[in-house]
Amino acid sequence: MTARVRALETILSEKGLIDPAAIDEIVDTYQNKIGPQNGAKVVARAWSDERFDAWLRKDATAAIASLGYTGRQGEHMRAVHNTPDTHNLVVCTLCSCYPWSVLGLPPVWYKSPPYRSRAVSDPRGVLSEFGVALDPHVNIRVWDSTAELRYLVVPMRPEGTDGLSEEALAGLVSRDAMIGTGLAGRAP
Ligand code: FE
Repeated sequence: MTARVRALETILSEKGLIDPAAIDEIVDTYQNKIGPQNGAKVVARAWSDERFDAWLRKDATAAIASLGYTGRQGEHMRAVHNTPDTHNLVVCTLCSCYPWSVLGLPPVWYKSPPYRSRAVSDPRGVLSEFGVALDPHVNIRVWDSTAELRYLVVPMRPEGTDGLSEEALAGLVSRDAMIGTGLAGRAP
């Protein structure tokens, strides 16, 4: 696959259809500049600012864009908040739709057929394999992403984090916590 992609890129640039520097820029952007740290800042802001959180619940696309995170594969966003009774888990059963603008590129397992099918048929089993053991009374809600709508899980704010800055809070929010295959980290 790597060789095929390289051959295709060579042909397209030889024909003058693409600019290799532009391709490098896009790859660099999504590998290094756009990543789960963006989503973590969204979550930390929601934990710290009630008005932002209300906006995020009502119009996640606009609230997230207000922090500067917008663009490809994040045009329409919905935030789903975990509660003591409900845990949210995101999948794309059809392919690999993922909110690039807030989480960067998807992990390999997110695109794998076992995750895509088992997240629906056995979400509790999948979560336990990720090391997430939920109380039996907690419902798991599975959200199927599409090209039109992507989801960001807002994990529950850990206890003992009242005095933390937004920056410190963001450090507790992992990529997996925002997909729903993890929980927010513990207070330092
Ligand atoms: Fe997809």
